[in-house]
Amino acid sequence: MDVGRIIKVSGPLVVAANMGDARMYDMVRVSAARLLGEIIELHGDRASIQVYEETVGLGPGEPVYITGDPLSVELGPGLIEAIFDGVQRPLNIIREQVGDYITRGVEVDPLNRERKWNFVPTVKEGDRVQAGDIIGTVQETTLVEHRIMLPPDCTAGTIKEIKSGEATITDVIARVDTEKGLIDVTMMQRWPIRKGRPFKDKMGPHIPMVTGQRIIDTFFPVAKGGTACIPGPFGSGKTVIQHQLAKWADAEIVVYIGCGERGNEMTDVLMEFPELKDPKSGEPLMKRTVLIANTSNMPVAAREASIYTGITIAEYFRDMGYSVALMADSTSRWAEALREMSGRLEEMPGEEGYPAYLGSRLADFYERAGRTICFGSDGREGALTAVGAVSPPGGDLSEPVSQATLRIVKVFWGLDASLAYRRHFPAINWLLSYSLYLDNVAAYFRDTLGGQWNEMRREAMKLLQEEAELEEIVRLVGVDALSARERLILETAKSLREDFLHQNAMHEIDTYSSLNKQFAMLELILMYHHEASVLVEKGEIDLDLEKMFALPVRERIARTRYVPEGNLKELEGIKREIKEQITSLAGEGGDEDA
Ligand code: ADP
Repeated sequence: MDVGRIIKVSGPLVVAANMGDARMYDMVRVSAARLLGEIIELHGDRASIQVYEETVGLGPGEPVYITGDPLSVELGPGLIEAIFDGVQRPLNIIREQVGDYITRGVEVDPLNRERKWNFVPTVKEGDRVQAGDIIGTVQETTLVEHRIMLPPDCTAGTIKEIKSGEATITDVIARVDTEKGLIDVTMMQRWPIRKGRPFKDKMGPHIPMVTGQRIIDTFFPVAKGGTACIPGPFGSGKTVIQHQLAKWADAEIVVYIGCGERGNEMTDVLMEFPELKDPKSGEPLMKRTVLIANTSNMPVAAREASIYTGITIAEYFRDMGYSVALMADSTSRWAEALREMSGRLEEMPGEEGYPAYLGSRLADFYERAGRTICFGSDGREGALTAVGAVSPPGGDLSEPVSQATLRIVKVFWGLDASLAYRRHFPAINWLLSYSLYLDNVAAYFRDTLGGQWNEMRREAMKLLQEEAELEEIVRLVGVDALSARERLILETAKSLREDFLHQNAMHEIDTYSSLNKQFAMLELILMYHHEASVLVEKGEIDLDLEKMFALPVRERIARTRYVPEGNLKELEGIKREIKEQITSLAGEGGDEDA
């Protein structure tokens, strides 16, 4: 093994000479303590190394060992339920071994080597196989079947030998006869974190990832395989939304990357996540989750690597044919780590000190999301949906990280501190937020929910926008200046806000609405609006608006959010009531005329 020499140490950055044989992004071991590092810059034989452990006490002259391998993650059974740091050290296991603070240079395997898994083969001797083919399964947790795949770089061949039953991740479970000779296959693969895992084909983002959160699914949907970002001013409900997505989004696997800064931010995640329940099975959500956490006592560099570690693990599950939801919280903290390293490399700073490549690094990350035809001969489909939280200082979205993110992601859920203050949750601002997938998923909604869906959504959004304009007028000259038509718009918009957009994550039933329920709720609110509009348009002077707004059926509409999914038929009755009650108003007006 080649040995370089340290010539300079600057916090988490070490510069070493005599590194001519190394390559960019190679993993190295620094000093006799064998601290984990990665080469992030090479000039001739000089390498700048980002060190993932505390560098205190290191000095010039100490050795740097080149491993010749890029920084990689281990992929195989044992990922689910694990809690890793940014370079995939298993935090829960390290804690058991050495306590809360990671001792420097500890080398603990990311995945447990001793644990036995029950491998169930799905191929037999003589079967033709190629890279990406599933050769067997392991029931990793009660909620996840881990599909064992031939690695992407495996040469095609025939199964010469296949085992069944108990095996560790390093035991040989199959032998493949290929033109390059016999290949031993284990349940574990390795993959470099900075390189996307290959797939056969990328497909358009045409299917929404249903989250059961009405404002998201109806107005700002994210497609399966899509990208979204969510800025989170403190106390605006960011954590609750992320938990809701993790629990309810129709994804089989959740990968949560926490890049915290303040120590307690991450401790919260480590405490809270394991408490969450998977609503469909009642099991702990961790049984289908991989958690990556950087606590504050870890060097910034590990934070920089964490999003790549996380997305590589997410891609691996996508490759099995799963739908994976990845959440990164927060990418601002990640960008700060990038900025710190860039400063130490003495690079030319860009806006607010962030390196000029901030945008391209963010793009490299989000571009790894997608709905794909996976490697392998069965043509299975996988999806990786990426949601990044940003935490702009002071909530100011004009800062570089928010701006760079908004240029890349297709959905923006704008959390609004003032809505949270008024206790309107989820505090997603409907006037600022957007989804660029609306056109892509329109056909899906039309086919599953019927033709009027997209129409209804457009109309509802228009009413909300009109409300914002009318409120301006009301502020200036008072509500009396409005026509009856305009007052009805205000009333319907209020109903949209309070009865539809507002959703209580803590309420047993309200916490999740199926698409059918969302459709039915929106239909009722708009039906009331249309029926009432007919009366208003007739211009009956005697029409008592207050009475129309206070019809008993309004209360019924407001309470539809609490109707269980199984009882949606009830809502048909409300339609009749709307018609009857509004017609009766018309009747009254008519009697007086006569
Ligand atoms: P942040 O992470 O942005 O600081 P939280 O997600 O912890 O904020 O939310 C703060 C509080 O707001 C929560 O404790 C909860 O009471 C309330 N809240 C947020 N979202 C919802 C929601 N969808 N339904 C009900 N309450 C909510």
